[in-house]
Amino acid sequence: MRLKRYIYRKTKVENWTEVFQNPSQITVRSFQTGTVKINRRGTLNPDHPRAGDIQKEELEVPILAYWVHHEGKGDFLLDAGLDASYILDPHGGLEGSAVDEFKLGEHENISYHIRNNNIKLKTAFLSHLHADHAAGIRELPKDIPYVVSKGEYDAYQPEVNGNFLEGLEELYEIDFSQATELTPLSPIVDLLGDGSLWAISTPGHTQGHISFLVNGMEMPILLAMDAAFIHENLERGVAPSDYTWDVEMAQDTLDKVIEFLREYPQVRVGAGHEDLK
Ligand SMILES: [Zn+2]
Repeated sequence: MRLKRYIYRKTKVENWTEVFQNPSQITVRSFQTGTVKINRRGTLNPDHPRAGDIQKEELEVPILAYWVHHEGKGDFLLDAGLDASYILDPHGGLEGSAVDEFKLGEHENISYHIRNNNIKLKTAFLSHLHADHAAGIRELPKDIPYVVSKGEYDAYQPEVNGNFLEGLEELYEIDFSQATELTPLSPIVDLLGDGSLWAISTPGHTQGHISFLVNGMEMPILLAMDAAFIHENLERGVAPSDYTWDVEMAQDTLDKVIEFLREYPQVRVGAGHEDLK
């Protein structure tokens, strides 16, 4: 894999209010690509002082990808969801004990959604490289840029989790070390150069996890991705601990997200495995 730097212009905004004062003709729509079973105990870190007594309870939650349409710049994908190989096989054709299990119905795979909506993808941005966010790449075009945060690919274990990037010759990395710092949530990168779509570094779930902000005309939308699996993470202020690389860092990130949402109540928010509220 050739790793390339995702080129962006460092933005001069001083605070989030300035970002929101410059919205764009950009919309976002979620696609469900199957479901995954997670446990409430672990979706909410049971060891967190605010967690209380969290009982084991299986939750079947959607696997989501997002279609971003920009009036002038075209169509983008945030996460890839699942490909059709999961329709017949919950392991998506992968072997080994560490392989995740998902459920996918017909006409739910990511390329179906892409075709069905006549989408001409320009670029795919990935919050991280877990199977339920990246497996769909296997059936997506290989001649567009795929973008992750710097560090995410280094930690990726295709031999354990499946090689969803097979066929890709290059992968773009966002280097947040030079990015704009804003309180309470940053660093941020202006992905399309016009303030319409932002990547926000939100590490913890994985090393290079990113969330997105879609700065549309109606309202800004924060897609937390797996910084919060479900809305209850945000409501209770308790981060997930399951599937999490660094639980403490994930909590730190969640605290910042919550602070951001308090400060900017006009922002709508979607969780990684629960749609916008
Ligand atoms: Zn994940």
